[in-house]
Amino acid sequence: MKKIKTVYSDFDGTITKKDVVSSFFEEFGGNTRLAYKKLWIEGKISSLENTRHQISSVKNLPEAVLEEFLSKVELSDGFLEFYKYLVLNDIKLVILSNGFDMFIKRVLERHGIREVEIFANRLTYENGVFSIDFPFYNEECELKTGVCKCSKVREEKFCFIGDGITDLCIAKKARNLYATKRLRELCNKFSIPHTPFENFYDVLNRFKTDFLDTENY
Ligand SMILES: [Mg+2]
Ligand SMILES: [Zn+2]
Repeated sequence: MKKIKTVYSDFDGTITKKDVVSSFFEEFGGNTRLAYKKLWIEGKISSLENTRHQISSVKNLPEAVLEEFLSKVELSDGFLEFYKYLVLNDIKLVILSNGFDMFIKRVLERHGIREVEIFANRLTYENGVFSIDFPFYNEECELKTGVCKCSKVREEKFCFIGDGITDLCIAKKARNLYATKRLRELCNKFSIPHTPFENFYDVLNRFKTDFLDTENY
């Protein structure tokens, strides 16, 4: 093993099969949210404003319904094996996500995973009403999303796993990048070096090979 200490990963669509936030709004969001989403795609409102509108379009959601929704979230094939491998090798997992911290924690806890550091948008839920804040927003970042992933990394050389457009700022800086779905397309488009993957069995296999040699980290 190389002396890698930390692995950074996206959550929605990477660790989970589907994007939990998108599925949540598709299921529980009101119709007004689509108009705001359009404004955001057209660049007329910020990503933060869009997220706030999406959140406020969810009305009176009972806790039991939320719990049931989260209990159905599926992890990517091989993720539990990959996580187990990290634990056995004393490698820390840090999640950098533009999703919601509460969802991530609850989904992982259901699978017995608690020892993970999470940087995500802060969602609170009281009497069926959600509110959101963005403690990891960074005005300097080109992406201007809720969580600037690139500013959360402590090492100069690091490994990142991701699937989407909000992973782009960090993807460009990663020493070892594992990319799937939209991020993989963007990497091809912008010639960003990466290892493509379909699921975490692929990541685990490549990870073992990439970190056999101790010289790079
Ligand atoms: Mg994602
Ligand atoms: Zn950034």
